[in-house]
Amino acid sequence: MPFKVLGLSDPLVRGILATGYKAPTEIQSQVIPAALEGKDIIGCAQTGTGKTAAFVLPILNRLTNDHSGKSKHVRSLILTPTRELAVQIEQCINGYGRYLHMRTLAIYGGVSMPNQLTALRRGVDIVVATPGRLLDHINRRSIDLSRVEMFVLDEADRMFDMGFINDVRKIITRIPANRQTLLFSATIPQEVKTLAAGIQHNAKIIQVGQQRSPIETITQHIYPVHREQKMELLLHMLQNGGMYSVLIFSRTKHGADRISHRLEKSAIKSVAIHSGRTQGQRQRALQGFKAGKFQVMVATDIAARGIDVEGISHVINFDVPAFAEDYIHRIGRTGRATAIGDAITFVSRDEEKHLRQIEKFIGHKFKMEKCPGFVSTMPEESERAPKPAHKFFNPGKKRRPSRNRRR
Ligand code: AMP
Repeated sequence: MPFKVLGLSDPLVRGILATGYKAPTEIQSQVIPAALEGKDIIGCAQTGTGKTAAFVLPILNRLTNDHSGKSKHVRSLILTPTRELAVQIEQCINGYGRYLHMRTLAIYGGVSMPNQLTALRRGVDIVVATPGRLLDHINRRSIDLSRVEMFVLDEADRMFDMGFINDVRKIITRIPANRQTLLFSATIPQEVKTLAAGIQHNAKIIQVGQQRSPIETITQHIYPVHREQKMELLLHMLQNGGMYSVLIFSRTKHGADRISHRLEKSAIKSVAIHSGRTQGQRQRALQGFKAGKFQVMVATDIAARGIDVEGISHVINFDVPAFAEDYIHRIGRTGRATAIGDAITFVSRDEEKHLRQIEKFIGHKFKMEKCPGFVSTMPEESERAPKPAHKFFNPGKKRRPSRNRRR
């Protein structure tokens, strides 16, 4: 189905085609027509499905259709949990809207205020913001949200996880009640449902793909290995495996720095991204990785949340994430929009419990793999003989005499 059929304007379709998209993804074909009708929407889609365009395109279409000259008012607000996501969404808007005349501003912390203040004074149509910095602007009255017509809450589940939800609620009180609200979330737990019920009217629920299941284009590999051998295994893989663009996850900032330094020492171009680095450093790291200057980027979960880099060939979980949802978000950084990707997870003995939780969460058991030269800490699948349902019904095993069993 071509984009034109969705009811988008000609200059917008030209912008989408110039971005290189040929046809809408599933979430786009479902969300865009409903959003153009003015409906509130709850979009539940796996990461990497193209949900950004699903909300950005209806906004651009609506704002250009009734664009009566240069308005001084913010007409659309997109809230997103991380700075990187804010920057990326702004880039998407500018890309799809290259033939329109929209003024977009990304508002996020970690950078100085004056540029944001100047842009706001000149007037912007669309604001993409993280909650904390937007509240700063609201408190100092440098932004007026009273004319917002379309509001997007992106990654709603993450807003809860990251403790931003109270800020989000405060911001929502500043925008008109008769707006259109699009809410996107990778998962829809009860708290998100309750939030949605309070901020939307008759929302249409659109769910694409099976919730919780990692996207199908990603091949997952699990390597049980001693903790002390992880670094060696990582080096072995990076030096032998045709891995040209690799995102490595570490649970801690310190761990991310340590891995990155170790790789640099072995002449592997690497950079770390985490909340302990300045916004400038984070942006430079991301740009360098996107441009292919670094083969590897090592990230913590929060910093990596918004990373959308095309062509990440491998995601490596140096640590098993403690939360099963994070596993889905991590591996979703590869295999984006139907590209093929590999996700590799190193599991040490003390992390097996987290792996079991992930298996339960995604509803499927992993096959253990072994790298030659490295000792596996868990038996491979073939060696993990299933336990008999009952010890008396084990056909391969001789029953012991009853007196032995009593001992
Ligand atoms: P998102 O889920 O919005 O983060 O998008 C994931 C990736 O898919 C991004 O790299 C987008 O540029 C890309 N993408 C989004 N929509 C399309 C489309 N219709 N065709 C091809 N790629 C797309």
